[in-house]
Amino acid sequence: MRIEAVAGDITVQDVDAVVNAANSSLLGGGGVDGAIHAAAGTGLLAACRELRRTTLPDGLPTGDAVATGAGRLRARWVVHTVGPDARAGQTDPALLRSCFTRSLDVAAGLGARTVAFPAVSAGVYGWSADAVAEHAVAAVRGWADTHPDGVDLVRFVLFSPRVLGTFERALAGPASGSR
Ligand code: ADP
Repeated sequence: MRIEAVAGDITVQDVDAVVNAANSSLLGGGGVDGAIHAAAGTGLLAACRELRRTTLPDGLPTGDAVATGAGRLRARWVVHTVGPDARAGQTDPALLRSCFTRSLDVAAGLGARTVAFPAVSAGVYGWSADAVAEHAVAAVRGWADTHPDGVDLVRFVLFSPRVLGTFERALAGPASGSR
């Protein structure tokens, strides 16, 4: 699996699945969530409301992931995940890593070969970009080790050069396995 980091806007990525840093209500928020909903159109909110009405009446738990269609995005699916909120004391790295591994489980389960991630929890939810980069890269590498044919590409799409730098440093660190 190839893992890369680029600067840019996740809503314009030409990938099979775009991961959204949602909140557990799934009913929209600011940051990357607001950008994805704005770009995808109202069908995305309708799909999220349908999930709330059916399988997720209490919302999506922190660290978990669920897919919908992607509306007007180039991607085929949006995978919604809920990062831990450091402001609320959610500082367990396992929860953050779970966002990445569960999103890959869901994306691969649908047949996605290429997946774009934002820096989940590095915005309003208050995690440092360094910590997010470290745990995101470790989680994706670990998932790739246990899912050798899982997906072809994971692309971290970072909104600022500073956050891109933290991901580039994490990716330059020691990789396990043969990738
Ligand atoms: P969270 O609530 O999980 O912290 P945020 O949306 O507040 O999520 O921020 C997560 C990261 O996404 C931040 O680094 C923010 O700068 C970045 N971001 C915001 N909009 C976009 C976008 N359109 N594409 C990629 N990243 C974005």
